[in-house]
Amino acid sequence: MSRPKTEARDRSHGRSYVVGFSPFFVCKLRDMPYKPKHPCSFPRCPELVQAGEQYCDKHKKQEQKRYDEQLGTAARRGYGSRGKKYRRWYLQRYPLCVNYDECHNVATVVDHRISVSKGGDFWDSNNHQPMCKSCHDRKTAKEDGRWG
Ligand SMILES: [Zn+2]
Ligand SMILES: [Zn+2]
Repeated sequence: MSRPKTEARDRSHGRSYVVGFSPFFVCKLRDMPYKPKHPCSFPRCPELVQAGEQYCDKHKKQEQKRYDEQLGTAARRGYGSRGKKYRRWYLQRYPLCVNYDECHNVATVVDHRISVSKGGDFWDSNNHQPMCKSCHDRKTAKEDGRWG
């Protein structure tokens, strides 16, 4: 006979707890921190992404990679055409490998004395030296100072 009494008390306790939230507070909670999500910008990707983001995690990585590759290709192409002309001119002027005494080869490569990755200037002619391929390969095996 004591059991229904306890249940009744629990129920009323629970109700008073719920009533403790004011409707205003519940309302605030509902639209507080969430900006509306929108679909990923990748064609036909149904993934929802946070406001301010363009792609879902998966496509963000994919697009970044694609962007990097495009940039890389453009840069290489740019260096390539200007570099080719310059190289032809440079090798006419300095036709022999800097190590000619050792290798007895004509130069086919314009090398960076200080490799660009170590802070050498790409276009500064003071940083250029004529090299044959085998000397250049030997040098770049140690450091990457490759032309174009
Ligand atoms: Zn996506
Ligand atoms: Zn050489």
